[in-house]
Amino acid sequence: MASVTLESLTVRFGGLVAVNELDLQVRDGELRCLLGPNGAGKSTTLDLICGKTRPTSGRILLGGTDITTLHEFERARHGVGRKFQTPSVFKDLTVLENLEVARSANPSFLHSLRVFRTSVQGRIQEVLDLVGLSAEVATRAGNLSHGQTQWLEIAMLLIQDCQVLLMDEPTAGMTIQETEQTARLFSQLRGEHTMIVVEHDMSFVRDIAETVTVMDMGKLLAQGTIQEIEADPKVREAYLAD
Ligand code: ADP
Ligand code: MG
Repeated sequence: MASVTLESLTVRFGGLVAVNELDLQVRDGELRCLLGPNGAGKSTTLDLICGKTRPTSGRILLGGTDITTLHEFERARHGVGRKFQTPSVFKDLTVLENLEVARSANPSFLHSLRVFRTSVQGRIQEVLDLVGLSAEVATRAGNLSHGQTQWLEIAMLLIQDCQVLLMDEPTAGMTIQETEQTARLFSQLRGEHTMIVVEHDMSFVRDIAETVTVMDMGKLLAQGTIQEIEADPKVREAYLAD
């Protein structure tokens, strides 16, 4: 079970309440989009889920397990993977070498059912096909396009068997074609992975989202289908005004 539940989650930075009593439930296998104006607390929410930031109060549950006090690396072992706004790949290594490093970084893969089903090499090939990088195995990561670099980083999470994928503005800086390809990738990942995607590109959100959560000033402002969200006067005022 890889559902994610946040219960009254709060974090203060000095006098600033960046996330304020946030309740959120994301089902196992759901793709949830997180929207909101700059400074709403979206990236901080992902930081809280992956363990980069510790909450001041509240709880974080993964399936039925309380992970609130676990370290970031322990959460990674539980299958929580975070993709940051700036991609972190090893530029001097090839695409294949990056995946091999990522694979060995998570010892819990030994417990993964997938290892029994396919060999590690087989799984690497599967992931490369999925993200569209099969032709680039021998390419140095530093020579990939911006979009390809983002897909490599996603592949590095998949090869670690991350069940929960936290994505912060994955299409930022992508061309229209790269954004469309990313939407197709996310559609394939949904169901198998629980995904929380922070995104500003509304046409991308329309393509991928089931349920959309809108945050403002650390709080949940609105939640619903993309149609409900776009019609919501509160959301229009706080976020979609332009
Ligand atoms: P968003 O991703 O929605 O744009 P963030 O989660 O990055 O917003 O930030 C929410 C608020 O918390 C902002 O006011 C930001 O300046 C503040 N903030 C984020 N991280 C820190 C930190 N480590 N220390 C102090 N303030 C922070
Ligand atoms: Mg952010």
